[in-house]
Amino acid sequence: MNGDRIASLVISKYNSLPNNGKPLIRSNGVKEWTILAGIVVHNTSTDALECVALGTGVKACSEAIISDCKGQILHDCHAEILAIRAFNLYIIENGQENIGDIYLYISAPPCGDASMSLLNGGEDWSKGDDEEKQLIRGRAHYNRLGVIRTKPGRVDSQLTMSKSCSDKLCLRQTRGLLLSPVKYLNSVNVPDAPDLFLTALVCPVVLPDFHRAFTRWNPIHPFKYLQTNIVFPGGNDADIIKYANMKSNNEANTNVELTPTTLDAKKTAPSPLSIVWTPDHREVIANGIKQGSKKTPSIVSRCKIAELVCSATNVHPKLYSGFKAKSCSWPAGWIRTSADDFEL
Ligand SMILES: [Zn+2]
Repeated sequence: MNGDRIASLVISKYNSLPNNGKPLIRSNGVKEWTILAGIVVHNTSTDALECVALGTGVKACSEAIISDCKGQILHDCHAEILAIRAFNLYIIENGQENIGDIYLYISAPPCGDASMSLLNGGEDWSKGDDEEKQLIRGRAHYNRLGVIRTKPGRVDSQLTMSKSCSDKLCLRQTRGLLLSPVKYLNSVNVPDAPDLFLTALVCPVVLPDFHRAFTRWNPIHPFKYLQTNIVFPGGNDADIIKYANMKSNNEANTNVELTPTTLDAKKTAPSPLSIVWTPDHREVIANGIKQGSKKTPSIVSRCKIAELVCSATNVHPKLYSGFKAKSCSWPAGWIRTSADDFEL
């Protein structure tokens, strides 16, 4: 598979969507940017490619906001995480038969352990000493590799306990792409339904960190890494140039006109909004909920996904974690590790 085929399909789907939720130029001239992620499925017998899920965004809510939210707030609005949640919605509504190969395009390398070399001009850090592994905040101790990190954020922002996208992608390699309720739904509909795993990650750069970071845990289902030269027009111009310069032979075609003005970091800012899209749904997300509403949860929030699965299966566990216990095939069963469970 060619990475450009996947990337151009996701980017043209994004381009076809209405402007609401996309980065804009603010009235003071600041140019917003975002990250785009999309899931493309490849029917290997017909060679048909289809983009079935898409997400944009760079924001994560603080831990303080999500406690007691009853699964109604999306606390992780990084593009690839929203794309995976949207893919789960697609599977709820369409089933998982004939899915074929699964590709995840991201317009920037995932945050966390898989992109630490970006802080080092593209060179992998040499392996440091074997300090005890622990959860590290964002990019702190940036030369320590192989550790679990929270989402990067400003040092003065409220702490988020949301794990980095590198760590979450590692988890998806081990547990599969389906969230517990969706996994349960599939096990009811298609007994012995196989877990779904990524075939490949498609990125503008394949960093030296990828292999190390994505094989840290249980690498039974490693995915491949494909590079693309297709440029996402809503991205951060400084990053686009950085990726182009890092490519080995520097033959990358940047098809975006970059002027000194757009390269002025003070004149750019991350978009506060996210888009979630599947062939049947489109939402704009602000602060973890649907834009323009006081408290309407997103269709891909944990509470809505659980609601859809409850009504499809007529099974109503008391707690969200009830689905985890039902769908876990690990020999040791499921062990609760966080306090963010909620009543259904
Ligand atoms: Zn991320």
